[in-house]
Amino acid sequence: MRVAIIGAGILGASAAYHLALAGAEVVVADAAHPGRATAAGAGIVSPWSSGRVDAGWRRIAEAGARYYPELIARLAEDGETETGYRRVGALSVAADGAALDQIEQAIRRRRDAAPEAGELTRLSPAEARALFPPLHPALGGVFLSGGARVDGRLITAALRRGAERHGARFVAGEAGLLTAADRVTGIRLADESIAADCVIVAAGAWAPALLQPLGLALPVQPQRGQITHLQLEGTETGDWPVVLPPSSHYLLAFGSSRIVVGATRETGSGFDHRVTAAGQAEVLNEALAIAPGLGRATLLETRIGFRPAGPDLRPLLGRAGPEGLVIGNGLGPSGLTIGPFAGRLLAQLALGETPAIDLADYAPLRPAAAPDAAMDSI
Ligand code: FAD
Repeated sequence: MRVAIIGAGILGASAAYHLALAGAEVVVADAAHPGRATAAGAGIVSPWSSGRVDAGWRRIAEAGARYYPELIARLAEDGETETGYRRVGALSVAADGAALDQIEQAIRRRRDAAPEAGELTRLSPAEARALFPPLHPALGGVFLSGGARVDGRLITAALRRGAERHGARFVAGEAGLLTAADRVTGIRLADESIAADCVIVAAGAWAPALLQPLGLALPVQPQRGQITHLQLEGTETGDWPVVLPPSSHYLLAFGSSRIVVGATRETGSGFDHRVTAAGQAEVLNEALAIAPGLGRATLLETRIGFRPAGPDLRPLLGRAGPEGLVIGNGLGPSGLTIGPFAGRLLAQLALGETPAIDLADYAPLRPAAAPDAAMDSI
């Protein structure tokens, strides 16, 4: 069986890896658009710390976080150990003790139903600063040990190399869909047409234009995120936890003294690939209010990513439109959490298998679910 995939962000790369592992013939086309979300994503993987209540989002986000250790172990069998994934813990912070009480209670409820979320510990301001030294001295915390972070670029590159090791072929360039009668029959590149039994469209925020010629209106739009990378010279930051203030902003750390702070959520941005003065100011002001100790850091770069934002928080995953088409999209602000698991679900669909979870809540062309009051929280 041959499966073609359009898009090699975290979702398409994961689908390719799982299909190749299952022995399918896989071809992946990717146009490397500036602003692909996976290359800009922060990398927080701690859905248990999130205030979002939508059950459809919680089910798949928690399944995505739970799947990571298994995937990381599988990639290691393929020699892929550079993923940037680490369970550094997630530190929710607030200055107000009553607010921390509420956060603690909510996370404890979720953690009790999900042992993989780890241990929950209340921290004094001094204890919180011991874990993340630049923090504001007035902030206390609630620390969840199972929270993790991942480097979107590294894990996607690892999935791609792993897929190639199992026979997948990746081609560079803009792809279109080939159709005949009422089915999708493959993909078309500038100088090549590739027939396929099934095509997975995992083209992120660019997918609506690709599907529009088929008469399919995918309810996805780009939501710009501006996110800044700082360096704290001479400081080992690789074990520092993810920091989650009550706002939609956050801080996290990787090795090589790198701190990532973000991000803007600019609905209606279109594909405007610019760092704006207001965006940069928002990101830095929010970060320095939480962690004034970052004031001495070097500003390395600000990345732009277009989150593929669906009509609500739930991803769009499933068969839709003509025979032979599978759609994966709408990962929005949580695609680095959900993407590897969702890629596995897309692979199962393409192979005609029953997906690991019921996809009824995630039908690609469904109407929006009720809005979640905590939509913009982490
Ligand atoms: P993308 O990564 O955008 O990939 C789509 C790919 O399809 C691109 O490479 C594009 O070039 C290609 N493509 C499109 N059209 C075509 C075509 N016609 N032919 C060929 N190729 C095509 N998630 C978390 O879980 N935790 C976080 O902390 C987090 N932080 C984020 C912070 C920011 C600032 C942003 C922007 C996102 C964040 N996310 C986070 C969300 C996550 O990054 C995205 O949901 C996820 O990366 C989406 O992956 P994707 O593969 O669907 O899309």
